Amino acid sequence: MVLAVKSEKNFLGDVLKQFDEVADILGIDPGLRDFLKTPKRTVIVSIPIRMDSGEVKVFTGYRVQHNNARGPFKGGIRYHPEADLDEVTALAILMTWKTAVVDIPFGGAKGAVKCDPRYMSKSEIERLTRRYTAEIVDVIGPHVDIPAPDVYTDSQIMAWIMDTYSQLKGAPTPEVVTGKPVNLGGCEGREEATAYGVSVCVREAAKRYGITFKGASVAIQGFGNVGSNAAKILYEWGTKIVAVSDSEGGIYDPNGLNPFKVLEHKKKAGTVKGYPEAENISNRELLELDVDFLIPAAIERQITEENAGNVKAKVIVEGANGPTTSKADEILAEKGVKVIPDILANAGGVTVSYLEWVQNLQRFNLTRQEVLKRLDDKMVKAFNEVLEYSERYEVAPRKGALILAVHRVAEAVKFLGIWP
Ligand code: NAD
Repeated sequence: MVLAVKSEKNFLGDVLKQFDEVADILGIDPGLRDFLKTPKRTVIVSIPIRMDSGEVKVFTGYRVQHNNARGPFKGGIRYHPEADLDEVTALAILMTWKTAVVDIPFGGAKGAVKCDPRYMSKSEIERLTRRYTAEIVDVIGPHVDIPAPDVYTDSQIMAWIMDTYSQLKGAPTPEVVTGKPVNLGGCEGREEATAYGVSVCVREAAKRYGITFKGASVAIQGFGNVGSNAAKILYEWGTKIVAVSDSEGGIYDPNGLNPFKVLEHKKKAGTVKGYPEAENISNRELLELDVDFLIPAAIERQITEENAGNVKAKVIVEGANGPTTSKADEILAEKGVKVIPDILANAGGVTVSYLEWVQNLQRFNLTRQEVLKRLDDKMVKAFNEVLEYSERYEVAPRKGALILAVHRVAEAVKFLGIWP
């Protein structure tokens, strides 16, 4: 059954609408279109857990495997109180496009457990993780579906998934998940991989759009894994980080901030706000600064029809997933603001996950330098291909990326054929 679009406004609706627009451009026939829209498998499981109090609670877990024409399913697992099937499905579809954009031999999947780990003990989270893994053990595997961390899941949770899978299958199997601790087969450089990919996109966009990279001004929303690492890398590469922010607010210094010192301040103060050598600004003000590059690296739907008209950045490089609404996209295009889309800009994480998987399968280790060099090459190639598609079809890079991805997946499906 083809997925029904509940509302034009919802996330899954947006993802399917974008796909339909691209399928029209590529002239994909109705049968293949339905095939590409529909997840291959959707698994919903009950996860009964004995809580520390002794009571039993039953959680709901999902694993949506969208498409595996180009390789095993790949995608993170998130633990979130608002997780639902539509969201997991939309994220699984986006993973299929993301792995295709960077041309790594994976398909797309996503998993979630509806829970709030902020209010659970470590041992409750461990029991939840192990039981969830046991419930999906027959549909994951190193050549079938390889999970990874996402919102509120981390390398410790990946280690529990690996251990549970290995215990049930009777053999150590590090290649069943990526994003593991380095001493269990995790990959050097995975921590900063997404930020590194974002930084490569900034560097390549500067070349493409005629902006002098050395000294280019950069504002970054979000100072977590992606934002703070991108700030450090871009600072070391010679750009000027003029503003950064977190959920409490932001800081601005037109002469440039030292992100290493800002990080020290954040460790003590819990926020970047109040950094002594800068002016405090709001997140809204940060998004409207007159800069060469704006990097949203916090949460979704930050650049909307309300503020897009005030954006003065020359280029937006999307570190976060879905930071720009489709209405905002139209306004930015009219203003001539270039947007390097999320499925390209933040694909560094899944690219290094691919390197982790390959290393685990072959039982060897790359050094951090080797990992980052391979990542750099992959990102540059993907960046150029996306821009080439965008020029060839005379569309913005976001649509160019999607045309490239859907074309790759559709071609794979056509070659494989429909069996029987
Ligand atoms: P994180 O939790 O480490 O950091 C998020 C940062 O955003 C924090 O500094 C937080 O304070 C800030 N923030 C939260 N709400 C905010 C708000 N309303 N305004 C301003 N700042 C706010 O998360 P992360 O791993 O850095 O992920 C950031 C984004 O990048 C997410 O959209 C995520 O899906 C996406 N992403 C991350 C990875 C990865 O490898 N970590 C890969 C692909 C995409």
